[in-house]
Amino acid sequence: MPQSQRVDTGACNLHRMRAYPCSVRMTVLASGSKGNATVIAAGATRILVDAGLSCRELLKRMAAVGEEPERLDAILITHEHLDHVAGLAVLARRLKVPVFFTEQTHRAWVRMLTPRTTMTYAKWLEKMQAEREAASQQVSEAAGQHSGVAVMEHVEAAEEETAELKLKADPAALPAVEYFRAGQSFSIGEIDINPFTIPHDAADPCGFVFHARSESIRMAIATDLGYVPPNVKQALKGVDVLLLESNHDLEMLKDGPYPWSVKQRVLSRVGHLSNDAAAEFLMRDYDGGAHTIVLGHLSEQNNLPELARLAAEQAIGGRMSLLGNRVLLAGQDAPMEPICL
Ligand SMILES: [Zn+2]
Ligand SMILES: [Zn+2]
Repeated sequence: MPQSQRVDTGACNLHRMRAYPCSVRMTVLASGSKGNATVIAAGATRILVDAGLSCRELLKRMAAVGEEPERLDAILITHEHLDHVAGLAVLARRLKVPVFFTEQTHRAWVRMLTPRTTMTYAKWLEKMQAEREAASQQVSEAAGQHSGVAVMEHVEAAEEETAELKLKADPAALPAVEYFRAGQSFSIGEIDINPFTIPHDAADPCGFVFHARSESIRMAIATDLGYVPPNVKQALKGVDVLLLESNHDLEMLKDGPYPWSVKQRVLSRVGHLSNDAAAEFLMRDYDGGAHTIVLGHLSEQNNLPELARLAAEQAIGGRMSLLGNRVLLAGQDAPMEPICL
């Protein structure tokens, strides 16, 4: 029986591996204010960038595009906004994969998940005293029932149980955490990663360039940025696939339903990139060498896919061809087909 199960599993894996359309690929599972997640794959390495949907939805979408969640090597987080981390803790714990953040982003995320205490110092002292008394009572009860080594074992078992309970109770508990810094490259399996700082109102937000070493292919993610500063222009040179934010149409945002303060936030230098700003980057600073440009993080209220596409296509102008610079749109409701390189 176990042998036939093994054979079945093997056949299933083989079938799934055959189903992968290509070795190097970017698959956008979701992009927008309701959730962001993208799979970057090269050879045997698979990285999930952001986990901004529920764990269940992320698993469903990965299955829909033929990506096996159990083969993920890591989850990388751009920043701590909910649309990038909503399913993070549950997914990472379920798949037992390490999560890569900058230290500041990790701290901000932990703060976000940890309920704030309004306890006074006196209350805190009282609580500590009660906990200490309960613990010593447990030990003396154990001593009454057992003796010597048995007491120690009982205490150790109780401590282990408490640690396990704490882990379950801690919403920010992760299987493993790794820190990276903007501007300092690091590697995961067959992929080299260059994180770069983006101007956005989060603790330490980053975009990424992924370099598939063996094929020398570069894929970049640059969403959630108020404008395109020189370091981002520099980082995005020579990329083969670019997921670029094209968040809003300026007129639609100005006339739209958002309260004034939210409009100000979106428009600010640490908000989101407009269709016009994305187009300006594509016209003036983009080197024209990408196979595909994916426009992402489109606002549902303040943008129309046709407007975003038109602005980008006009900016790229004569550089569009069958082999290069095709413009695709990423949405929130369904995953995109894998982009193969
Ligand atoms: Zn954000
Ligand atoms: Zn976002």
